[in-house]
Amino acid sequence: MRALVLAYAALVGACVGSFLNVCITRWPENLSVVRPRSRCPRCEKPIAWYDNIPIVSWLVLRGKCRGCGLPISALYPGVELLVALVWLACAWRYGATFLTLRLAIFATLLVGVAITDVRTYTIPDGFTITGFIFVLLAAFIAAIFGEQLPFASPFNAIVGACTGAGAIAIVGWLGEAALKKEAMGFGDVTLMAFIGAAVGPELALLTVFVGAAIGAVVFLAVIAPISKGRGKEMPQVPFGVFLSPAALVTLLYGRQMVAAYLTYLAGA
Ligand SMILES: [Zn+2]
Repeated sequence: MRALVLAYAALVGACVGSFLNVCITRWPENLSVVRPRSRCPRCEKPIAWYDNIPIVSWLVLRGKCRGCGLPISALYPGVELLVALVWLACAWRYGATFLTLRLAIFATLLVGVAITDVRTYTIPDGFTITGFIFVLLAAFIAAIFGEQLPFASPFNAIVGACTGAGAIAIVGWLGEAALKKEAMGFGDVTLMAFIGAAVGPELALLTVFVGAAIGAVVFLAVIAPISKGRGKEMPQVPFGVFLSPAALVTLLYGRQMVAAYLTYLAGA
């Protein structure tokens, strides 16, 4: 029975990942994710259903379009596999529950945000608005069941959205003053409203702290030296790439992190 649940979760995850690919490629260009049907970006030939099976079709076609023979990006099966693993991991930990579904959808949206942000330096409203509405609805549904943790209660979800958006706006404002250039896009603010609604106000602050810390280290240690070496202007920082994993870690382990820190302070 458990094996069946896990297999089903992985299968659903792979299909969700397949749809996520459509969102990742179309939303930054303001295209509909419903119409037209998937087609090869090079020869524009519509992709038949049997060539659109998650992961499997890419392997069968050996990464080439059936129409024009040109390569299909490994990003597509990569995203499908990653999301399948995310759904599998959620089902592994929480079984066939509402929490599994809630966590899997939350994580899937964050995967979409991180990949889109790194590719295009944008965080489409498609992810954040959809996510914000989903997270609020889920909080109310879970409140009826009486199950909440690790997600925020409906009240904390609303306070968390405002806290997350406010905190990242302050970080961006200070960053702009320090760097004397635009440091953060409005997409990061909407992202933190969505994340804050999921995790609540305390963990929203922790997410911004953890995400900004990872982002600053990666930017100063990796991105800045590379762009300086190439004599290029410093690029924008895709903060969504760091905030997304920070949100997941904070949601699952943030309470333990805060408790351990407080214990440490009390002992010191
Ligand atoms: Zn083609």
